[in-house]
Formats: sequence, structure tokens, C-alpha cells
Amino acid sequence: MIRIKNLRKVHNNGFVALDGINLSIEKDEFVYLVGPSGAGKSTLLNMIFRADIPTSGEIYINNFSINSMAPKQIPLLRRSIGFIFQDYKLLPRRTVYENVAFALRVMHFDRSRIRRQVTQVLELVGLQQKMKHLPSELSGGEQQRICLARAIVNNPPILLADEPTGSLDPDTSWEIMQLLSKINARQTTVIVATHNKSIVDDIRKRVVALEKGRVVRDKRLGLYDEN
Ligand code: ADP
Repeated sequence: MIRIKNLRKVHNNGFVALDGINLSIEKDEFVYLVGPSGAGKSTLLNMIFRADIPTSGEIYINNFSINSMAPKQIPLLRRSIGFIFQDYKLLPRRTVYENVAFALRVMHFDRSRIRRQVTQVLELVGLQQKMKHLPSELSGGEQQRICLARAIVNNPPILLADEPTGSLDPDTSWEIMQLLSKINARQTTVIVATHNKSIVDDIRKRVVALEKGRVVRDKRLGLYDEN
């Protein structure tokens, strides 16, 4: 489903953030992207989301090269990819319901369909009781659950998460990862950039390790560190 060929990214300041990345991720896979800070994890996720473009190499999603895609096709691509940010990026003056409904409104879905999909997804993440609250009235874990709901409300086939547990305590981190596993079980390809060693080692999945912009390890049912 996602094929990455000879991907290289050199930032404007000359820094080589990714080099020689080759990776195939199948439909329904769950992949942890691990590696030290600065290894290139966010850069890679941003390129799959087409928020950034590579210096050379290609990314194919369903055999379609996303680098050579016309700008007007980007919104369509983004509808098939949910993205969870570490720092939430919620709309502070909108309710939980509105934050999740927003993406569907932009797509001009009708009101009853929006209500049905938002209610379903808030139930999935366990926030249906809080749909009228503002983000500031919720805990960090609850805010991250809204972000999760917002990312999947349109049932995208791909979900990308950049350090989704970066600012959460261990129990809450565990809950978020369990939710990501549940979403993966509903036929969604999930790629999670994470530093969370205990979760990677407990909820065993494929582990792709990056170091200095290169893939140094790729293992089914891997561990955070193999040494
Ligand atoms: P990770 O997510 O693994 O921590 P990043 O992908 O954020 O790594 O960053 C990889 C490297 O690229 C870092 O050294 C970072 O400083 C650098 N980098 C990221 N974005 C830019 C940019 N826009 N311009 C220059 N350097 C950047």
C-alpha cells in the first residue's frame, strides 16, 4: 500500500534528514518508527502526508506517486490519511464535537451523516459524555483521544501518529496505544513514530528503526532495542 523508494531529504540548510530509505508497508500493517531524536521520523511521516516533498526518490500510495501529484489533488490524498500530532493542534474555542466534526464539514457532508460519524467515533474513543466540553476542560489523555477521533472520523485507510504519547503519563499512553491497535484491527494501516520503549516492547508489532536518516533495522514483532 505504501512504497518508499530511495528516499532522500536534504533540508534547505544542507542537513541530510533522510537518505536511501526503502520501505514497503502493506495494508493493515502496524509499524512503529523508532530512533533517537533527530533520526528523521517526523520528516518521513510528513512526506507520507505530503506536507513536505523529498529531494529525490518516490513515495507511492496504492501505486500512485504522491510526489508528482498536482497540488489540487493533495486535499484528496489527505482525506485518505489521518494524522495525529504530538501537540494536539485542537481548536481551543470549539467543543469536542465541533473539533471532530470540522473535517467532515469542510468536505460538505450532510448534517445527519456528520452527527452519525462523529458520535460513533467519540464512542470508540470513550468521549461521548464530553462532546460538549472545550478542549481546555479535558486532561491531556482526553485531548489526545479527541485528536485520534478527529484523525479517523472519515475512516481513512492510513493513520500516521507522530509521538502520540510524548506528553502523556504511562497509563494514559497505554490507553492511547491500545486504541491505535484497535483502529489497526479495523483495517487501517497505522504508522507510529515513538520513543516509548515500554509500549513498543509490550505491544509487539513491526519495528522500523531509523538512525541519522537511514533505516538500520526492520523487524516483524521487533523490540525497541535489539541489542
Ligand atoms: P525525529 O522526528 O526523528 O526527531 P526529525 O525528522 O524531526 O527527527 O528531524 C530530523 C533532522 O532534520 C533533525 O536534525 C532536524 O533538526 C532536521 N530538520 C527537520 N526539519 C528541518 C527543517 N525544516 N530545516 C532544517 N532542518 C530540519
